[in-house]
Amino acid sequence: MTDMLQKAAKIADEVLLPAASEVDRYGRIPGSHFDRLAEDGFYGLVAPPEFGGLGVEFPDFLELVEILASACLTTTFTWLQHHGVVMGLAMTPNSALRAQYLGRAASGELRGGSAFSGAIPVPPHVRATRSGEGWTINGQVPFVSGWGLVDVLHVSALDEQCGDVVSGLIEAKPGDGIAAVHPLSLVAAQASNTVRLEFRDLHLPDEMVTTRANRDEYIAGLARGSRVDGSLALGLLRRAVALLESAGQLAIAEAVRARAAQVRTKFDAAMAFPADLPVTRAACSELAQQACTAYLVAVGGAGLVSTHDAQRLTRESLFTLVVAGRPDVRTALLGLLERRARCGDHAVAGGFA
Ligand SMILES: Cc1cc2nc3c(=O)[nH]c(=O)nc-3n(C[C@H](O)[C@H](O)[C@H](O)COP(=O)(O)OP(=O)(O)OC[C@H]3O[C@@H](n4cnc5c(N)ncnc54)[C@H](O)[C@@H]3O)c2cc1C
Repeated sequence: MTDMLQKAAKIADEVLLPAASEVDRYGRIPGSHFDRLAEDGFYGLVAPPEFGGLGVEFPDFLELVEILASACLTTTFTWLQHHGVVMGLAMTPNSALRAQYLGRAASGELRGGSAFSGAIPVPPHVRATRSGEGWTINGQVPFVSGWGLVDVLHVSALDEQCGDVVSGLIEAKPGDGIAAVHPLSLVAAQASNTVRLEFRDLHLPDEMVTTRANRDEYIAGLARGSRVDGSLALGLLRRAVALLESAGQLAIAEAVRARAAQVRTKFDAAMAFPADLPVTRAACSELAQQACTAYLVAVGGAGLVSTHDAQRLTRESLFTLVVAGRPDVRTALLGLLERRARCGDHAVAGGFA
């Protein structure tokens, strides 16, 4: 694992960080970023060793995500979607599908994205209907990142008749049931190539199905994802601390570092108590937003110039406030913000102090 931490730090310092500003401004991630991540084994982090993966432990995975996110949030977020494909293939009872795809996904030869968010809302945005030896999928996934950068998508849809969420692999290209692709213009992470996808009678044959789970089980399974998404905000916090230090704001930097460490510890503890996850996730994103704002204030007007890291980080902190949001995270965040508005920092545990 030390080896992977060193590799992550090297990629972060030498590849991702120097390009982060341009990635943001030009809305494009160089293909060489993803190639380097693949060469160094980062596409197979969670894949089992028998399929060429590294099978890293969850806490190690989180640290690696945090290191990469501290250098380029956009690249890290886009690459992160791939692990939905790897996990789907690693856990599927469909051994033929696993044998066909998992090795290639672990090496990064095959790159993937996720399209699960349309299955969750009530009523669902994406529905599956049993037809012949497979499923017909219809509806819209509001956000799919990595479009044009990935080969396959791990798509999920709800069968309202039986209450199961069906997931499987599809090719990430227009046609064959992907009726329309609507590019989204984002204020942060534009280079993630996030689109809204419209499925019309997309056929998902049984041989491409990874999992079928009751909706409640499916949602419970997303809890780990909330911790992973928290690592994006923790990565931003690392960068904000470093930049605050370089701007001479040592007291604020130290306060943020200490508070981030507390939040990380709480977050890890919350894995055993999923009910605590939303509030911890909320505290983490709120702290990232405060820290990035503090850096912008520290550098002053220069920080608003479009090439400056300060304005980028501040926009990226807004991204971590809402991306991969869930109703309970939103409620926790709004509660935190309301308490702060009512009582000031004294009454809010989420502040620097
Ligand atoms: C820039 C960006 C990129 C994204 N990329 C991807 C991607 O690549 N793949 C992908 O699949 N998703 C992606 N998402 C979607 C993300 O995973 C969340 O689904 C989305 O951010 C939900 O937040 P929201 O505030 O838009 O909607 P919300 O209003 O929070 O949720 C939408 C609906 O879903 C319901 N809902 C959401 N979560 C739950 C839950 N756990 N239990 C019950 N009901 C729930 C809500 O009630 C609501 O009706 C992306 C989102 C953004 C903003």
